[in-house]
Amino acid sequence: MTRVAFIGLGNMGSGMAANQAKAGREVVAFDLSADALSRAKEQGINPASSAGEACKDADMVITMLPAGQHVRDLYMEAVLPNAPKDALLIDCSTIDVDSARTVARDASMQGFRAADAPVSGGTAAASGGTLTFMVGCREQDFPEIEAALKPMAKAIIRAGDSGTGQAAKICNNMLLGISMIATSEAFALAESLGLDAQKFFDISSQASGQNWSMTSYCPWPGPVPAAPSNRDYEGGFAAAMMLKDLKLAQDAADASGAPTPLGGAAEALYGELVRGGYGGKDFSIILQMLRGTLALNRE
Ligand code: NAD
Repeated sequence: MTRVAFIGLGNMGSGMAANQAKAGREVVAFDLSADALSRAKEQGINPASSAGEACKDADMVITMLPAGQHVRDLYMEAVLPNAPKDALLIDCSTIDVDSARTVARDASMQGFRAADAPVSGGTAAASGGTLTFMVGCREQDFPEIEAALKPMAKAIIRAGDSGTGQAAKICNNMLLGISMIATSEAFALAESLGLDAQKFFDISSQASGQNWSMTSYCPWPGPVPAAPSNRDYEGGFAAAMMLKDLKLAQDAADASGAPTPLGGAAEALYGELVRGGYGGKDFSIILQMLRGTLALNRE
């Protein structure tokens, strides 16, 4: 039976690991949280006493951790010293491109095959096995990586060599953050000009302003019933997560010299929203900040 070591059973990792178990694989998992480990047990996952122990005898090691530092430390201290050399190493966390390239280089120098494979889709897609994976890896390793990710995926796309999965993720989310703000600004301006929001939606969704943030995830409550704006901006993709991704994009832009003036403005606006106390709300609540309806904490 294929043996999967899964490290990081948080909001995303718990559902992803459960889908590996549902696919008939033996999943041995570790998380620093004892609660996360005991919940995983109910999903048919075997808890390990450490990350190193989980990696022993694994055919593949999948990590889903908060940030680059966690991934670098875990690879150095637990994954590379304990996993068998023929294990596939796949990091699905959203981290900076440099960290992704560093761990892939260290892994490859020790004879491992490694991939960065961040995801698009939130906790519902993680539980439902419908995530989109953007993969950075050697071309010859991709078929096996694709097969490893399949129980968790709706789509799996190879972006290029190491680090390009992370590059795709942060460029996509920078575009999403900017387009959400642009859509919100347009609704706020329409309101102040006396234009009904539903009428503006009916027109712009069929005109050149149409975009995903408007027609699939409308920040104004009403026009798109499934959007978080209709549930007081609960669930969905947290503003704090959007800010994390915008910071990664700006750090990457600074390091590479790419001009991203709108990405910088988006980071500043989401920073204001998160500092104001709305980091846990869906990121489309930025509309309400632009309309001036939020009581922002200014301390
Ligand atoms: P989370 O904070 O809920 O989970 C992270 C888990 O990692 C926690 O349970 C924590 O205890 C564990 N952890 C940290 N260090 C560890 C270590 N050394 N060993 C073992 N476990 C350790 O975060 P999340 O929402 O699951 O997100 C995980 C990653 O996925 C992040 O990089 C995030 O940016 C990305 N992501 C999240 C979403 C989302 O909607 N939540 C969507 C797409 C991508």
